Amino acid sequence: MPIETKLPKVGTTIFSVMSQLALEHKAVNLGQGFPDYEPPLALREAVTRAMSDGCNQYAPGIGLASLREQIALKTMRLYGRKVDPATEVTVTSGATEALFAAIAAIVRAGEEVIVFDPAYDSYEPAIELQGARAVHIPLTVPDFSIDWQRVRDAVTPRTRMILVNTPHNPSGAVLSASDLDELAEIVRDTGIVVLSDEVYEHIVYDGALHQSVLRHPELAERSIVVSSFGKTYHCTGWKVGYAVASAALSAEFRKVHQYLTFCTFHPAQVAFAAFLASHPEHYLELPAFYQVKRDRFRELLKPSRLKLLDVPGGYFQLVDYSAIRDEDDQAFCQWLVVHGGVAAIPLTPFCETPPGTRLLRLCFAKNDATLEAGAERLCRL
Ligand code: PMP
Ligand code: GLN
Repeated sequence: MPIETKLPKVGTTIFSVMSQLALEHKAVNLGQGFPDYEPPLALREAVTRAMSDGCNQYAPGIGLASLREQIALKTMRLYGRKVDPATEVTVTSGATEALFAAIAAIVRAGEEVIVFDPAYDSYEPAIELQGARAVHIPLTVPDFSIDWQRVRDAVTPRTRMILVNTPHNPSGAVLSASDLDELAEIVRDTGIVVLSDEVYEHIVYDGALHQSVLRHPELAERSIVVSSFGKTYHCTGWKVGYAVASAALSAEFRKVHQYLTFCTFHPAQVAFAAFLASHPEHYLELPAFYQVKRDRFRELLKPSRLKLLDVPGGYFQLVDYSAIRDEDDQAFCQWLVVHGGVAAIPLTPFCETPPGTRLLRLCFAKNDATLEAGAERLCRL
């Protein structure tokens, strides 16, 4: 029986494609964003202990109370925002689930969601499955900042949501306090909900503060803020994240979440609740941890013919390869994995119209040996 697809534009994600090619060609995998080091030992032990202790059945749908309390404490401590763990924090199966649930809960058929290109690849399919439309606004190259006038021009009576991502994947760009003011001005007196993807919230460099929308009282009232423990605790395979939003928005969010997954992996929630309480230094030290990796990787790439863009946040380095080959980023990434022995991620799959840049993304959430092996190959090009 022929099946008419609901997602004609969707194929296999570029992350899976590049990781598969990396395996086939024995390339150094600097593509898909995941660390090649382990989560903290105490955290891993806590997960296995929770399983031995019998935490193997459904957790509460909205998440363990002890974990929601830790998330609320962290939100107060870092962003000065008091949130009620009972009504404003929901634990999810990764940020991907939270993003999908937020979009499905809020956006109706025929409505529009403003996204900024390059946009993380899960956003648009989630929007399209609601019968809604993603309105793409390109970020301004090379700093990947938002042109707020373009946003003002793109808002229509159908705009239901604006989706921001800071620190931004793939560019590492971060929103400033004045960006948040611009955003607040645009959504003021409208029904627009802000969905803020802040999975790299603890990875900002050079002493900068992460400008969470939760710091901005006016925006916080109308936002759903999504984060991921996968990024913060080096365990992308556990798929635990969360959403913070007002009680009214959380109530809608939870209606979808309870039928999408109902609850998140119970043993990991027990472990995170204990680990957040006993080791707050882990996330406080994360900027320094990643800044060493960023600086090391940039140093290693200095002799190469790649031009390095600035990295204010996140764990990806964008490089301009135009001095090496004159071809588009998808073709270059294919060539690089086969002939250069390095897997990278092109930007085109994250853009409605090909950006026309000669940039690719390299992940530096890797051990020194991996960074050195990757850089050595990149320096030979
Ligand atoms: N948003 C962004 C910007 C990401 O980079 C990622 C994953 N790398 C996610 C969401 C998804 O996070 P998770 O793995 O927790 O689902
Ligand atoms: N978020 C990761 C990245 O940007 C990939 C996640 C995935 O493979 N779905 O590389």
